[in-house]
Amino acid sequence: MKLSDMSITQLDCIDALRLSGSLTKAQLAHHTGLSLSRASHIARELVSNGFVQDLGPTLQTRGRKASLLQIRPEVAYAVGIDLGSEFVRVVLVDFAGSTTSRHEESMPFHGDPAAVIDGVASKASEMMRTQHMTRQEVVGVGVAATGIIDPASGTCLTMPVLAKSWTNIPVVEGIRSKLRIERVFLEDSPRAMAISEMAFGAARGLNDFVLVNIGHSMGSGIVVNGKVLRGTGGIAGELGHIRIADPITRMEQSSVCCCGNIGCLESVASGWAMKKQAADAVQQGVNSSLSSTKGNDAKITIQRIIEAAQHDDKYACNLISGAGRVIGIAISFLINLLGPQRVIVGGGLAQGAGDLLLNPIIDSARSQALPWIRSGIDIRLSELDSYSAAIGSALIAFERWIGELRKNARKRYLNQGSDHVAFSSRPDVELT
Ligand SMILES: [Zn+2]
Repeated sequence: MKLSDMSITQLDCIDALRLSGSLTKAQLAHHTGLSLSRASHIARELVSNGFVQDLGPTLQTRGRKASLLQIRPEVAYAVGIDLGSEFVRVVLVDFAGSTTSRHEESMPFHGDPAAVIDGVASKASEMMRTQHMTRQEVVGVGVAATGIIDPASGTCLTMPVLAKSWTNIPVVEGIRSKLRIERVFLEDSPRAMAISEMAFGAARGLNDFVLVNIGHSMGSGIVVNGKVLRGTGGIAGELGHIRIADPITRMEQSSVCCCGNIGCLESVASGWAMKKQAADAVQQGVNSSLSSTKGNDAKITIQRIIEAAQHDDKYACNLISGAGRVIGIAISFLINLLGPQRVIVGGGLAQGAGDLLLNPIIDSARSQALPWIRSGIDIRLSELDSYSAAIGSALIAFERWIGELRKNARKRYLNQGSDHVAFSSRPDVELT
């Protein structure tokens, strides 16, 4: 039996096991809403068909040991690609969510987008070859991109902070033709990171949370009722482009953002904004260890600013804490608007700076949010590594593939009435 022949209920069980790592039959019943006898019956079918392995009686529950069921990782694979601000990353992920291959290199964004797309596709092909994998075993490719994207057409509309050459680039079409894999999806990087947090990180078990990505640029992935919010045209979560400067922050109105607007959060508190502010301050003779870079702005990196702050350089400390306070104001907007259970702060700048950035973010968000919810505000750093967006993209490819299988299973049922169960037992499943 192939996965493409399965009923919706069987696919629900497969998906529950894929997303949960491992489950007992009772937990599988709970996750899918099936009766214990029905879940046990389907589990036996899935084990005999080779999609699930029974790890035996390993989990102690109420005095007796229960068998743990686990998805077989070799059932399918997906490629994840992250077109980040400063790096490109490529991963190959198995059906159980483990990364079997990973690669990272500096992003040559100043170059030809076609060459970058060609490069990441070649790397993905090489990984598949090394793992002795056929194209049929790879069910899809997810691509995360920093910038403004149109997920429907798979186009990168613009990466204003990086390079003008990345305007209206058909990323999905390029990857699809190079890799000769049909299922290719484009997603905004913070949303892909949010999906990784749900699967492996600080958002496990949460239905409402926000992932704020603070790196070279800035954005957020918003999850409401367990679903990633994409909004019309895929624009939801563009936190970096809300206007925050003056009069609230008393920052200069002249902070022009890469998007062309004035006073965006990203123009005053992102990695690129901090580098620009530091270069200007050095030019004006600031007393800081960064002043050794005078005359060579390229030497001012996020890493260098963080290292200076870690060595108690007063200017660098103030630069980071000032950015944190402004970001905290923006996060208080998110908290008041959405009421998330948790705000997870990730990205290269946030994770590199750690508490130097996080503490002012928390203090500022708490002081700005509604007074009676302040004590319950939960803001914490992501513990995932820099491959979070790439892995999240691969998970999106699996999700879309399972979605297609469910849709086809429903069609088969409606056309032939031959399926075991008509509709999904999962209340949140999308059948259309
Ligand atoms: Zn902007």
